[in-house]
Amino acid sequence: MKKTPVFLAILLLPLASLFSGCETINQVTGTVFLMTPEQEAALGKQLAVDIEKQYPIYRGDPNTATYIERLGREIVASSPPSSQEIRFHLVDSDDVNAFAIPGGSIYVLRGLLSVVDDESELAGVLAHEVGHVVQRHSAKRVSQSQFYSLVGELALGENAGELATLSTSIVQSGILLRNSRQAEYEADAVAIDTLRRARMDPRGMARFLDKLGGASSGKPGGALAAVMQYTATHPLTPDRIAAVDDRIKRLGRLASSPNSDGFNRMKARYPSVK
Ligand SMILES: [Zn+2]
Repeated sequence: MKKTPVFLAILLLPLASLFSGCETINQVTGTVFLMTPEQEAALGKQLAVDIEKQYPIYRGDPNTATYIERLGREIVASSPPSSQEIRFHLVDSDDVNAFAIPGGSIYVLRGLLSVVDDESELAGVLAHEVGHVVQRHSAKRVSQSQFYSLVGELALGENAGELATLSTSIVQSGILLRNSRQAEYEADAVAIDTLRRARMDPRGMARFLDKLGGASSGKPGGALAAVMQYTATHPLTPDRIAAVDDRIKRLGRLASSPNSDGFNRMKARYPSVK
């Protein structure tokens, strides 16, 4: 089958997507298209290059970057298996956010560090991102977007130029940062169960969401502008907070987990904004 040149296809796809439904059905097999883990890994490598142009890795504080990697690895050790190798990166940005991209890279923006008040809150945010990776949410989102046929056509490593063009278009489209409400519920559920297995207190995750909820509803104690970034990427609804609280309640008695020395050192550098 002759391939459509990638530039032309990207121009035409928004038009084509006007006539298709929300889900991308493969015309041949009749199934919903989902890129393979190998395609995800190859695309993810290129996406990381492009996303890091917008969200540069923070090189100014290797101790905090190492601490986040260590905490992240502890969480991953108790998470369900992932088809992708999960990596954590500290981003040079004052925005309050964290996000995961296809291929397993998780980006933690520096601004988040001033909003978490204890280690269980930070662990909750990281575990939630691990949930997105394990559930392949961003890979599914790209697979079901206007880019599906291009992803499907990409033979691994066959044409680095086409892969780079596709990656740039995906990053520019903004879809990497938009999680659905359903994806949020799923990532929260994975996170809570993972934190429990890792012997980290999942109630920190609920506290963090409450804090964001309070700030976004204009209650005192929250910096509205700071949390809008996070909630734009990870939709926050009263239902979501209630579902998290319910799942945590079902775990029974929980012990609070003390902050590690690594966390305390990080907080000395990024004091909480009150
Ligand atoms: Zn999320």
